[in-house]
Amino acid sequence: METISCNKLEDVKITIPKQVGKLENQKTTIVNVSGIEVGGKEVVIFAGPCAVENKEQLFETAKSVKASGAKILRGGAFKPRSSPYSFQGLGKEGLELLSQVNKALDIPIVTEVMDTRQVELVSEYADLIQVGSRNMQNFPLLKEVGKSKKPVLLKRGMMATIEEFLNAAEYILSQGNNQVILCERGIRTFETSTRNTLDLSAVPMLKHLTHLPVIVDPSHGTGLRWMVPIMAKAAVAAGADGLIMEVHYKPEIALCDGNQSLRLNEFSELMVDLGKIAKAVGRTIL
Ligand code: PEP
Ligand code: MN
Repeated sequence: METISCNKLEDVKITIPKQVGKLENQKTTIVNVSGIEVGGKEVVIFAGPCAVENKEQLFETAKSVKASGAKILRGGAFKPRSSPYSFQGLGKEGLELLSQVNKALDIPIVTEVMDTRQVELVSEYADLIQVGSRNMQNFPLLKEVGKSKKPVLLKRGMMATIEEFLNAAEYILSQGNNQVILCERGIRTFETSTRNTLDLSAVPMLKHLTHLPVIVDPSHGTGLRWMVPIMAKAAVAAGADGLIMEVHYKPEIALCDGNQSLRLNEFSELMVDLGKIAKAVGRTIL
């Protein structure tokens, strides 16, 4: 396999694929999400519900997170659920709602694509296409989003090593799309008290090895609403280029991941604290 040669290999004994690998002194690649730059000085906050449920839920949540300083709205229309009987997302109707809120509030949208057959449709609506943890090694899907002109948010597979994660990103770059944001979202370990084990050491490691921007998802990373702000702050301190968090206007009635979704006021309070942490590490947020 072709790899890059750089002094990173002296202290980290893994093989770094050539296009995602960082050359000496190479700056972080800026990924432009419809005008929002991820990978620069600003720590970019992505927020919104786990799933798009209805117009009121999406608009109320979106208006509030935007007012609090979120720059990109998240919301799943196609949901990868563990049980086939759980809410699967609104599909195309969900994409339509995202498009309405995008126009009304002028906020870019990130939403997940689960299948090669959906890439064209999702690309019409999304400003940033998400490949979820369960699909990190869906190689046909990686190739397909690699052919797309839209930037891609690639989430770390829940059982993927850093080397596998980098190779998944390389699949996308190898097809001509270098607009890729990596997302650490927790991995499976022997620990059961949290939903996943948020591997914050992945942030400095990925920043060390690759030029791609790195963001953190403390919502899926912990599964616990009260822990999200703590790990969000830790992620910014560790050098993350952004955070993606689940926020819901009424988490008690959320159809998906209510337990890990911040309330609107909790999110706005967190944004104030994040601004202070960002400043302490030479970054900005608002
Ligand atoms: C999500 O972000 O909606 C999601 C399903 O996350 P993950 O793929 O990390 O589980
Ligand atoms: Mn979720």
